[in-house]
Amino acid sequence: MQKNQNVYDKENIFAKILRGEIPCTKVYEDEFSLAFNDINPQSQIHILVIPKGEYISFDDFSGKASSKEIISFFKSISEVAKQVGVDRSGYRIISNHGLDSHQEVPHFHVHILGGNPLGSLLVKGGK
Ligand code: 5GP
Repeated sequence: MQKNQNVYDKENIFAKILRGEIPCTKVYEDEFSLAFNDINPQSQIHILVIPKGEYISFDDFSGKASSKEIISFFKSISEVAKQVGVDRSGYRIISNHGLDSHQEVPHFHVHILGGNPLGSLLVKGGK
């Protein structure tokens, strides 16, 4: 994440995807959420689910989004998992928040990873 981390950056890459300014491979869309394939997949299935509202991170979303948006967003994640079949084989959801997590794109997103065995949760990167 760059720039002022407390102010939503309307030029972030996912904001551009939401505005249709750059393409994505869409997997799912509803009133509050959009899901698309990650451009650099880390597993056979690697999908990003993002809210349509302007939220920087999980922290921002959980603090500012309406209950309706939050409920709908989390239901959309399980809907996407069902749609691509990983609800049966298993999957991992990850959301990076802020610097230590290496969040790159400052628009809240959840990664859905699956389609093959994923190994252990974390690769040790620090102490
Ligand atoms: P983060 O590190 O912020 O949790 O994850 C950002 C993710 O966005 C990365 O997995 C990266 O591959 C993905 N990504 C970055 N730019 C693009 C893009 O232009 N299109 C798509 N589909 N994914 C992107």
